[in-house]
Amino acid sequence: MPEDIQLKETGGAATIHVTIVTPSGTQEEYDVRHIRLPGSEGEFGVLPGHIPFLTTLKIGPVYMDTAKERIVWAVSGGFVEVLGDAVMILAETAERADQIDRERAEAARQRASGRLRDSRTEIDVNRAQAALARAVNRLNVMKS
Ligand code: ATP
Repeated sequence: MPEDIQLKETGGAATIHVTIVTPSGTQEEYDVRHIRLPGSEGEFGVLPGHIPFLTTLKIGPVYMDTAKERIVWAVSGGFVEVLGDAVMILAETAERADQIDRERAEAARQRASGRLRDSRTEIDVNRAQAALARAVNRLNVMKS
């Protein structure tokens, strides 16, 4: 079989090449059958052959399905570009579920909750809400 139509490890199904990039560099690349992302206008899924698409991301989980497994990451904002059968995630932060430090996320959640109770300015409230959302997302992704 020619190299360019060689079937991948997904049992012959078409796949999407996903690259996860953060300010520290490329974190991981996957070939998946389906990916679900937390767009700022709402969650959305991408299958192979999706139309070109660019959007911003909010804090949330990224679910990717290969033939063998479901892979879950936590992201906290950034951009995603869908072009051809490639998805490029440019995230402010990104951690795979098993990289998340539960105690750190739990401490961040408690700190942010305390700040929300004590906050005096809108800036404080916005920062504390964002920190709380990051921490809760990490804790949820660990459980999923
Ligand atoms: P903290 O107050 O614990 O730093 P934070 O939400 O303010 O939490 P971020 O600014 O979102 O942290 O992330 C800073 C860096 O630390 C990023 O590289 C992110 O991937 C990493 N990080 C943050 N929290 C965790 C965690 N619970 N487990 C693993 N990595 C984390």
